[in-house]
Amino acid sequence: MSRAEEYSIRLKDLKEGRHEYCFNLDNTFFEESDNDIFSRGKIQCDVVLEKHSALMRMELSLKGAIQVACDRCGVQIDLPVSEVFDLVIKQEDHATEEEKQEMEKEGVLLIGEEVVEFDLSRHLRDFSLLMVPSKRVYECRKEQPYPCDEVVLERIGFFEPERISSKTDNPMWDALKDIQWEE
Ligand SMILES: [Zn+2]
Repeated sequence: MSRAEEYSIRLKDLKEGRHEYCFNLDNTFFEESDNDIFSRGKIQCDVVLEKHSALMRMELSLKGAIQVACDRCGVQIDLPVSEVFDLVIKQEDHATEEEKQEMEKEGVLLIGEEVVEFDLSRHLRDFSLLMVPSKRVYECRKEQPYPCDEVVLERIGFFEPERISSKTDNPMWDALKDIQWEE
């Protein structure tokens, strides 16, 4: 089975109604994705597809972990990710320009009526990238073994809670100290 087939949904002869699929995105999938952010990970994607004539609505629930550099200490961590995406496709060969624009506006992906297999891999790649949070840290204190580099965290004072309250660069606090509050 080729990679494209592995992440495809067979549309030919697909009956009306609800269909469920499950795809596993692994290291090979992400290595082939060739993105700059991560190349290793393990994500399960559960798809619920509702077919109504030529229109197919898909709900894709992605859940798993991706390997990225921790924003706090710099070591590679398995960052948990989870998100739900929608994808609507329509098999239609004779849409007018106007109808095409309308569907595009509504986020409907137009595909040919003769398409036998719908390859999801590009969309799975895009969704996986969208799941990467801007801040790559998570609540990992309770994990065994602890994934972060404690030496680095020690050096940046991560374990000292008073650092946050006592040290401030905000000049507003200095100004406030000088205010004489009326009794
Ligand atoms: Zn860390």
